[in-house]
Amino acid sequence: MLGYVGIEAVLDQLKIKAMKMGFEFNIMVVGQSGLGKSTMVNTLFKSKVWKSTPPGLGGPTPQTLKLQSVTHVIEEKGVKLKLTVTDTPGFGDQINNDKCWDPILGYINEQYERYLQEEILITRRRHIPDTRVHCCVYFVPPTGHCLRPLDIEFLQRLCQAVNVVPVIARADSLTLEERETFRRRIQHNLRTHCIDVYPQKCFDEDVNDKILNSKIRDRIPFAVVGADREHLVNGRCVLGRKTKWGIIEAVENMTHCEFPLHERPADPSHLQDLKDITHNVHYENYRVFRLNQSHV
Ligand code: GDP
Ligand code: MG
Repeated sequence: MLGYVGIEAVLDQLKIKAMKMGFEFNIMVVGQSGLGKSTMVNTLFKSKVWKSTPPGLGGPTPQTLKLQSVTHVIEEKGVKLKLTVTDTPGFGDQINNDKCWDPILGYINEQYERYLQEEILITRRRHIPDTRVHCCVYFVPPTGHCLRPLDIEFLQRLCQAVNVVPVIARADSLTLEERETFRRRIQHNLRTHCIDVYPQKCFDEDVNDKILNSKIRDRIPFAVVGADREHLVNGRCVLGRKTKWGIIEAVENMTHCEFPLHERPADPSHLQDLKDITHNVHYENYRVFRLNQSHV
């Protein structure tokens, strides 16, 4: 009976409007150096951006020395996705890792501040450019044991400021059984240390959310494999890692790499959810904190 009151037509209109406006999404990758963050950024773009290799995406990945963002517009089925990925230098290489989270949290808060400064203008732009981090992908080293104290402390701080999705980095170094045991241990660590990663339980709005999100919670941290070289597998060109034992596929084969961000932009429901939580919860916390200070 939905059609009777015209809700379907309204939904169609909203969809067309969203398609016209495009969709912006900002991701940040964080973790110790050498875990494959920069490679993953390349995997993500190479799998999405058309055949032409964008500048800077060819050749081996150099070590990341400063925070840097890359933006590409990806188009699929008439929907434009403007994807920005912020790559960060690895932390934890120092003898003293005190405050190694400062530059990362500093960047996240700077983007909230930028948005706030635009929002409080009397004559504000209709569309405020959104550089806020909607999703922070945290790379956990594939030790097979459990989260290290440094990861626990970093994650506790990050979760207060941004949506965090932890992943098991370089997952090809673990057997499937080791991967599962490691995943369960990390899930246990997250619970006992009150690290509230995405999707946060308190934002499940109805039964459907609960069912869908509990499936995701069960798979977190996702095991990932990054690659920026193409290989021929059964006549198909795939991004993967060539090893003595065969090709490990980094994108299309979900048993090899479970990265969820290859989601199609034509169905960006999780991306929208991450954006909503960023705006309604994390940015709101920042805004209240700043407006409570005497001067803005
Ligand atoms: P970053 O310091 O976290 O940015 O790490 P890089 O992306 O620079 O990668 C460091 C090294 O690890 C490079 O030699 C990559 O080829 C390799 N690497 C990246 N991803 C993976 C992966 O998923 N599995 C394995 N085995 N090696 C990887
Ligand atoms: Mg790097």
